Amino acid sequence: MAQSIFLSASVKPQLSFKVEFRAKRLEKLLDTPARIYYKYEGGSPAGSHKPNTAVPQVWYNAHQGVKNVVTETGAGQWGVRWLLRAACLISTVWQVRASYDQKPYRKLMMQTWGAKVHPSPSNITQAGRKILENDPSSPGSLGIAISEAVEVATKNADTKYCLGSVLNHVLLHQTVIGEECIKQMEAIGETPDVIIGCTGGGSNFGGLAFPFIREKLSGKINPLIRAVEPAACPSLTKGVYAYDYGDTAGMTPLMKMHTLGHDFIPDPIHAGGLRYHGMAPLISHVYELGFMETLAIAQTECFAGAIQFARSEGLIPAPEPTHAIAATIREALHCRETGESKVILMAMCGHGHFDLPAYDKYLQGGLVDLSFSEERIKASLANIPQPGLKQTV
Ligand SMILES: *Cc1c(COP(=O)(O)O)cnc(C)c1O
Repeated sequence: MAQSIFLSASVKPQLSFKVEFRAKRLEKLLDTPARIYYKYEGGSPAGSHKPNTAVPQVWYNAHQGVKNVVTETGAGQWGVRWLLRAACLISTVWQVRASYDQKPYRKLMMQTWGAKVHPSPSNITQAGRKILENDPSSPGSLGIAISEAVEVATKNADTKYCLGSVLNHVLLHQTVIGEECIKQMEAIGETPDVIIGCTGGGSNFGGLAFPFIREKLSGKINPLIRAVEPAACPSLTKGVYAYDYGDTAGMTPLMKMHTLGHDFIPDPIHAGGLRYHGMAPLISHVYELGFMETLAIAQTECFAGAIQFARSEGLIPAPEPTHAIAATIREALHCRETGESKVILMAMCGHGHFDLPAYDKYLQGGLVDLSFSEERIKASLANIPQPGLKQTV
């Protein structure tokens, strides 16, 4: 794109799809003195940051002689990326029902790469059957899909479970984003004042922010670090910091994290990758230490921002990074008021080519902000285990 700065000099050949752009035309549209940069992860074969962790996870499993791998996927992005590498193994994916129905093309990509894809909740597992008994039309959630995949892994000795976000090793793999970005910003003599990313489980945000937090702690730079979550699933802004399960059935080890309660089932917003009840323990810890701030934005504002972004930058974002875009636009408009020429760096973690029905809905005026129920959160928070009462391995 002619208006963008393309910086690939410091990028290794196999990672050359990870580029950084300056959003000059968006700046102009917003009439802001801020300089907006975004790190784009949508150039991978299926369009997001997920291969950064899918590749090493499947590689280690293959080298250990594992024959089957199972996983879950919320919006289909993780499933798709992961399968890209797992093609050599037998793989099964539980895709959250809402996204299985909304996003048939991601399902088809996974099947093309050789996976078995089940909608979750399914009647294949005990965890899925239990949910379906109570609600036969359950839209599912990442928490339920994880339970199903973990259940299958625990019952089969030759099968291992892989997770696409939340866990320490996933965030570690994703720091390649921030490490590259530090080099790319240095190469053009820019220092970010504000770093913004969307958080589902926290991996693209942590991947971008953590290397910058390291630089911040060493006193070299002092950016504000800001995570954006959906108003319909606000684990950081409305959840509690407690030991909780990573899945709905309570099969995972307890993790200390910001959580809405493991049996919280978020409304089926289009940003399926952000429909997770918890937050990465590492992000939760960093948040508790005060190294970052958070805000929650509802989906209509996010899609309005995505349209501005698409019409100025040419890229159609996945519904998840529209949250980062909306927060970036808020910051840029604030700069317009104050006259500050801040440098904003944003994680544009995937494209939305398979999410066009969501855009269709928005453009037809049918996309609404799903009402957010304090009561439902209260009910699920009541089911968080008391530490010490039940220990898992
Ligand atoms: C999976 C995914 C997310 C949410 O996961 P994080 O671990 O929070 O990054 C966000 N955006 C895209 C494009 C995704 O594929």
